[in-house]
Amino acid sequence: MTDIIRKGEKKHILTKQEIITLLADDNLTGELFAAADRMRKQYVGDKVHLRGLIEFSNICRQNCLYCGLRRDNQSIKRYRLKPTKIIELAAKASALGYRTVVLQSGEDDYYTVQRLQDIIGRIKAFDLAVTLSIGEKSEQEYAAYRAAGADRYLLRIETTDPELYSAMHPGVSQANRKRCLADLRRFGYEVGTGCLVGLPGQTIASLADDILFFQEINADMIGIGPFIPNPDTPLAAKCGGTLNLALKVMAIVRLLLPDINIPATTAMETLQPEGRLLALQVGANVVMPNVTEGEYRRLYALYPGKICVNDTPAHCRTCIAGKIAGIGRTIAVDQGFRRAVF
Ligand code: SAH
Ligand code: SF4
Repeated sequence: MTDIIRKGEKKHILTKQEIITLLADDNLTGELFAAADRMRKQYVGDKVHLRGLIEFSNICRQNCLYCGLRRDNQSIKRYRLKPTKIIELAAKASALGYRTVVLQSGEDDYYTVQRLQDIIGRIKAFDLAVTLSIGEKSEQEYAAYRAAGADRYLLRIETTDPELYSAMHPGVSQANRKRCLADLRRFGYEVGTGCLVGLPGQTIASLADDILFFQEINADMIGIGPFIPNPDTPLAAKCGGTLNLALKVMAIVRLLLPDINIPATTAMETLQPEGRLLALQVGANVVMPNVTEGEYRRLYALYPGKICVNDTPAHCRTCIAGKIAGIGRTIAVDQGFRRAVF
């Protein structure tokens, strides 16, 4: 085994240059994946945590260049679910055996603090952990959701490269994104972040910075997604990220933050059938099956080729359970908070 992987596995520390070497040299990939799988087994075990994903609105005030929900995209039909519908979907997720729901949407101002507090409070009554993934909000808003019972928050930094960040996110600042992550931490959320892999102009060195940033803020969850060009966006003609590079970033994250929760992301499955199962075998320990119903699945079109758009929540639950069993893993029955090891 190379010294770099041995060091990462033993000490959970790597320099930027060492991370760059791992990302650049495909001869090391097999060893890296094996080491990440060992770390996963040792620190978080064989159980896979399922999070039921509710995509409750595709209306967004932001204009992220890569995303199909961006406000300038006029080609998609927009929707927002009523609070009662969101609560109903959460109840169904609970009935299907989920212990966490993830409420995800564009940045949609219809969902005021009061509405969200009400939704969160009602869902908490089902004894579910609640994860929010609703974008950049004020300090007061984050405090209010937390007071209502929200447990976790997903907000990817997307890229730590300041110039690339500005190019991808018109009208917003990376400083505010970091402010959001710091607020979430201060209010006691489990903090999830992550990055896109393969953005136009993104370098291996900048991905190494992303990984070091995750470690610096001691993130509790890291979601790594390959960038998939969306035809309805200004990046339509660009090349996307590869599954191999996204998996490598994910595997290095597992070495450096061995006890965190790492999802096998849906975008990975979009690039390759069984991409999520592959991810579960090279560092991941979480899957987020969709519990949105009907045509909303298709309309929540961040990127093209989204999986399972015609399936029902019940089907997805059974399907993923079979796949997880097929690789010799089991589904966790607890709510799946990060285990404090250090
Ligand atoms: N509005 C919220 C949550 C919805 S977007 C937010 O932005 O945080 C959820 C994630 O989808 C984003 O973090 C982004 O990384 C990912 N995403 C958006 N467009 C994508 C694309 N074209 N390919 C891959 N992932 C994409
Ligand atoms: Fe909106 Fe999130 Fe898409 Fe950006 S990534 S346009 S914030 S839904």
